[in-house]
Amino acid sequence: MTDRAPQARRRFPGEAHDHERCIAEAMAEAAEVCTARGARLTALRSRVLEIVWRSHRPLGAYAILEVLAADGRSPAPPTVYRALEFLTEHGLVHRLASLNAFIGCSQPGHPGTGQFLLCRCCGTAAELDDPRIRSAIQRTAVAEGFEIQEHTVEVSGLCPNCQRAGR
Ligand SMILES: [Zn+2]
Ligand SMILES: [Zn+2]
Ligand SMILES: [Zn+2]
Repeated sequence: MTDRAPQARRRFPGEAHDHERCIAEAMAEAAEVCTARGARLTALRSRVLEIVWRSHRPLGAYAILEVLAADGRSPAPPTVYRALEFLTEHGLVHRLASLNAFIGCSQPGHPGTGQFLLCRCCGTAAELDDPRIRSAIQRTAVAEGFEIQEHTVEVSGLCPNCQRAGR
């Protein structure tokens, strides 16, 4: 697709953006990724991904379980953890250690790496996945003789929307 509206690509999209579209795009991309990888996006995995994508704020496993319970299903917590593991392994969501929460990946397919700007006021997370940051970390790690297995950078501060609101 060539004519994606800029709103879909903004890192801090603001409250007024068309989030239904973010969800629709994320779900379509997830289906593509799973097909390409021969992985099965079961109904539960798909629902968990949709719940994670409810907003641009990272969501903890407990909150996900609550939404599933409100759906009328009450899967055992390990089932939900396994679904989250699946989504993380296939690069559809990222786990943010500092928040112990999950966020939908904005460009799926790079499991285990990513850089995030986390707003401590509204809780929004924006994914960067900037190759320059990645290679700078890689270079530095190699110089130390360190082998990177997973690299997630989490930076906290205030997003443009919250700064404007003077919060
Ligand atoms: Zn959105
Ligand atoms: Zn990502
Ligand atoms: Zn904010």
